[in-house]
Amino acid sequence: MEQLAIMGGTPVRETPIAYGRQYIDDADIQAVVETLKGDYLTGGPKIAALEKKLCEVTGARYAVAVSNGTAALHLAALAAGFGEGDEVIVSSITFAASSNCVLYCGAKPVFADIKSDTYNVDPQSIRSLITPRTRGIVAVDFTGQAVEHDAIEAICREHGLVFIEDAAHAIGTKYKGRPVGSMADMTCFSFHPVKTVTGGEGGAITTNDEQLYRKLMLLRTHGITRDPEQMVHPTDAGWYNEQVELGYNYRITDFQAALLLSQLDKLDRFAARRKEIVKMYDAAFQDVPEIQVQREIPESETTRHLYILRLNLDRLTCDRRQFFDALRAENICPQVHYLPVYWHSYYEKLGYEKGICPNAEAYYEASMSIPLYYSLSDEDVLDVIRAVKKLIEFYRK
Ligand SMILES: *Cc1c(COP(=O)(O)O)cnc(C)c1O
Repeated sequence: MEQLAIMGGTPVRETPIAYGRQYIDDADIQAVVETLKGDYLTGGPKIAALEKKLCEVTGARYAVAVSNGTAALHLAALAAGFGEGDEVIVSSITFAASSNCVLYCGAKPVFADIKSDTYNVDPQSIRSLITPRTRGIVAVDFTGQAVEHDAIEAICREHGLVFIEDAAHAIGTKYKGRPVGSMADMTCFSFHPVKTVTGGEGGAITTNDEQLYRKLMLLRTHGITRDPEQMVHPTDAGWYNEQVELGYNYRITDFQAALLLSQLDKLDRFAARRKEIVKMYDAAFQDVPEIQVQREIPESETTRHLYILRLNLDRLTCDRRQFFDALRAENICPQVHYLPVYWHSYYEKLGYEKGICPNAEAYYEASMSIPLYYSLSDEDVLDVIRAVKKLIEFYRK
């Protein structure tokens, strides 16, 4: 349905801007074309090169590139050994995949609340949910901001838990100077086009643990090995490979890996521009009492994936829905990240009830993501700011 801008006036922009989009340059295109002309479309050298590059970028000892971020989470949950009867504590404000990976393994996700100022998972909430069945934590670097590693790692050490970091938003972010990807037991990345770097689709797991690394490599390709040391019936027959686990085909292609290698060359530029845009938004919204600006913990040096516009609804005459629609009518296309995972009807069917994470639910009711991506011009950013301020004026109590 076409929407008129509020007050019937002309929208702030003539052409719509989405909340996120990829940036592809000639070097990216050339990298893909060269790979397509080469010998390997999959299973070739670009994948190993990508994994080496991911180790350099994240400081991790090992990286396993896979077909997407969800596959990365699934393999991490399997490698962690989650299964029937286990509980895994998961951030409540995240994409469903962070929690679905626990269900894939037959284990039970238990949702932790967020902090109402950083929107990241609250370590105190995690602590309050630990039972004798708890085996691990899936913590999301929401918007790209690093989770509170010191606190979460302490909980994991104390209770012998596996720490899986969902860093789908957070490539390029550091915590106390250490890159995301080098700290948790396993860190999962996504390279979907809205994320900071893209392979079209793509994902990866990084780890410093050799055992986990070997397990992840095995599970990525059906659980089949060519390494006699991993076989139950080793032989030196040239054709022989053996399936020793139930794995999957979660391989990424070589042309996606080539695109990702080329994208990662631009990560510093991508990160710098994202930071500039966040600064412009923060400066514009800092002193607007109708808007709550996301707090950053000083430990996180963040490459921001999302910019959250959170409304102080008690100062406005509209609800989030009205503001969202009105912003769209201005040709600024926001998105909402995210429905608390357990509000999805599938989770409702599993027996999860509303009310378990009050901060997450209050956050959800008042928030939306506004455009943030590398190729936004200053003029685009100013349009977004103008549109938001126009609506705040209009809906102010
Ligand atoms: C994008 C995303 C995923 C899933 O990644 P895909 O590559 O789309 O499978 C998982 N977790 C979070 C937080 C995400 O944003």
